[in-house]
Amino acid sequence: MENQGIAVQKSAHKQVDDVQHYINGKFVEGRSGTSFDNINPFTNEVINRVAEGRQEDVNEAVMAAKRAFEHGPWGTMKVEARMKYINRIADLIDEEIEEIAFLEALDTGLPISQTKKMTARAAENFRFYARMVQAKLHGESYLVDKEFINYTIYKPLGVIGLITPWNAPFMLETWKVAPALATGNTVVLKPAELSPLTANKLAEVIHKAGLPEGVFNVVHGFGETAGAALVAHPDVKAISFTGETTTGSIIMKNSADTLKKVSMELGGKSPFIVFEDADLERALDAAVWGIFSFNGERCTANSRVFLHKNIKPQFVEALKERVANIKIGDPLDPATQLGPLIEKAHFNKVQSYIELAKEEGCEAVQGIVPEELREGNFVPPTLLLNAKNEMRVCQEEIFGPVMAVIEFETEEEVIAMANDVRYGLAGYVWTNDIKKAHRVAHAVDAGMLWINAQNVRDLRIPFGGTKDSGIGREGGHYAIFEFYTEPKVIHVAIGDHHIPQFGKKK
Ligand code: NAD
Repeated sequence: MENQGIAVQKSAHKQVDDVQHYINGKFVEGRSGTSFDNINPFTNEVINRVAEGRQEDVNEAVMAAKRAFEHGPWGTMKVEARMKYINRIADLIDEEIEEIAFLEALDTGLPISQTKKMTARAAENFRFYARMVQAKLHGESYLVDKEFINYTIYKPLGVIGLITPWNAPFMLETWKVAPALATGNTVVLKPAELSPLTANKLAEVIHKAGLPEGVFNVVHGFGETAGAALVAHPDVKAISFTGETTTGSIIMKNSADTLKKVSMELGGKSPFIVFEDADLERALDAAVWGIFSFNGERCTANSRVFLHKNIKPQFVEALKERVANIKIGDPLDPATQLGPLIEKAHFNKVQSYIELAKEEGCEAVQGIVPEELREGNFVPPTLLLNAKNEMRVCQEEIFGPVMAVIEFETEEEVIAMANDVRYGLAGYVWTNDIKKAHRVAHAVDAGMLWINAQNVRDLRIPFGGTKDSGIGREGGHYAIFEFYTEPKVIHVAIGDHHIPQFGKKK
């Protein structure tokens, strides 16, 4: 007998149209006319077909964006008028929040209760950057003696290429699109091939908001073709990338020939450290949410949990109880807490890590996937007990609902283990000793540290990692000052400064 959730999903498929590129203000088939299947992670059935972009589609999109930047009204428009468009995008996202959250859950397997929150956040990205650009994007001026006034202005770069992953697509895309457009650039977005639906929806929203043609473009397709063509294109001035570390390094190499500015938001293997004096109930809530929300497919996930040996037994018992009770199910069911992984290949990768953990000596404690969901890409919430930091499962990014639990005794020891990893994206420290909290937070080598907190992020704060987790920062004023614009200096002589008189007869 068919499971009811799967029946709900089957009727949902029919409502989703095939996806086309969005180039120069129009939804178009690719030049080659080829397309690929978009697969539902819950049923592993085809949702729809997606246009497969190639070099010629990327060329067309970049040409449209270049024209719009150099000759369209976007660059010369008054800032207030441009921000009206940006705010209109936010309002339209709010109006379509249910639909966007539904498409995101259908396409990625993320639980709909979580995609709804991310969609609301996506609308805020546009409002935030509209405010930020109006209030903060100003230069400096220096009076240099009585001879000069020097001042800076911040200029948009031109055509920006945005390349995004599948794990929180709408939120991550809007986080790049909003500052790129608000600062006056034009954009070509290449979304992840595994999650094209909400990027397409973003194109619809932006189309409805009435942005001038060519300002925003989307080319769907695979990384090695469409993505690589965008990276290599000489008219693309910068690439903002979020994805795997290995892909980031390929993109950096490939953008060297055209000397592009790049921003890299990459993988993580973040430590979560619980000292014996911590508020253990709250630490438990945060540790469980931090790895099992978003199906564990979360760059800042606390995949390594370090427990002080004195509290480890009770904390592990509590973790086991939580893991047994996490609700696994249809991502479209509002009660679901953990959905299926994005695709079979990723499911197999995560499963193989769990097998490897057992070979490496861990005890795997898992929740139970309901019988009727066994065919799907469901990995139950998994604890890897007795883990050691040097094991591969503690060193490599698994990107699934898998928490390695590691014991420690001293502060020095746990700092050393937390840092003994190639990544440095995030970290979490739990203790009620205020000095120790700051000491450890300063010592853990990561771009972002939370003390006695889950991963709550204010839009004004920079986001990004150290080591193999990335280069540069997104968010806050970092995005608009340090990535999407460039300062230009104007030197104005206000007096008669000395000019050497070469060749002048005495
Ligand atoms: P991925 O690197 O496989 O793909 C990301 C994007 O890059 C996709 O659009 C893909 O098509 C494109 N791509 C692949 N090869 C390319 C190439 N040669 N040239 C140009 N583009 C190419 O990553 P993924 O599997 O989609 O996402 C998961 C990864 O993203 C994880 O490692 C996760 O930690 C990371 N991530 C990081 C952050 C962060 O802010 N640090 C946020 C979310 C996800």
